[in-house]
Amino acid sequence: MEKKLKDQVAIVTGASSGIGAGVAKKLAEAGATVIVNHPVPSTQEAADAVVAEIRADGGQGISYQCDVSKEEEVIRMFADLARQFGTVDILVNNAGLQRDSPFNEMTLEQWNFVLGVNLTGQFLCAREAIREFLKRGPVPQRSSALGKIICMSSVHEVIPWAGHANYAASKGGIMLLMKSVAQEFAPKKIRVNSICPGAIQTPINRQAWDTPEALQSLLTLIPYQRIGQPEDIGKAAVWLASDDSDYITGASIFVDGGMTLYPGFSTNG
Ligand code: NAD
Repeated sequence: MEKKLKDQVAIVTGASSGIGAGVAKKLAEAGATVIVNHPVPSTQEAADAVVAEIRADGGQGISYQCDVSKEEEVIRMFADLARQFGTVDILVNNAGLQRDSPFNEMTLEQWNFVLGVNLTGQFLCAREAIREFLKRGPVPQRSSALGKIICMSSVHEVIPWAGHANYAASKGGIMLLMKSVAQEFAPKKIRVNSICPGAIQTPINRQAWDTPEALQSLLTLIPYQRIGQPEDIGKAAVWLASDDSDYITGASIFVDGGMTLYPGFSTNG
């Protein structure tokens, strides 16, 4: 595989499982040194296992514990990594979670918890990344852009989701956070885009695929007739991080097997 991200340093938040792990492995395969971020001591082992896989495949990476919803931890992570690796070139804002509830029963704690990780976490990491890109300045032999930020959004930045108002609000928020930051920093050659996954087979949505009946019901929402895999998102992330997408900023790229194509209308509505 061509090393399109050679000599670049990438942080992937929430990378000890699921999509983040898939993205971390693909970025490493493309030559980046990857920081496998994870939130708490109990996720250390899983993060180390992702790093071990990256190294076994000839790539480079380390694990780093930081809760992205905590300002002082995020500031410390970027400072530590800049000291250890010189700079950061790519941020994949992937960490995210769900706390589902009927809206009339949703607690403020469930609302704040989801918004705190999914939206405030992306704000905090993006802000530190932009500060680092501006401080470092251009390195044209590594990348045409000054830096790249990829936000993990969801099809739920456009598809409303009953019973998940906090999650859908966080993803809708990511859309305009991403576009506003992309607009503000395009003149500085910083590219900011989102990947909007459909249904990807990970721990976050296990109940939607772990029985044949659940999977069959899920497939009625996916015209392409298969559930997505973390590598599907990893490949899109490599492309968005590389110079192959150098003229793309402020875009939401849907990687969803057609989930946003209103499949209910495929048989005449
Ligand atoms: P996942 O549960 O495997 O991954 C989420 C990761 O975020 C976990 O590794 C978790 O440890 C980490 N995390 C949680 N809180 C954190 C914090 N405070 N700081 C740092 N890390 C934290 O699920 P996933 O499906 O891989 O989800 C990854 C992202 O993709 C999420 O943003 C999710 O909303 C998004 N997404 C997933 C799907 C899907 O179908 N799986 C679809 C659309 C969007």
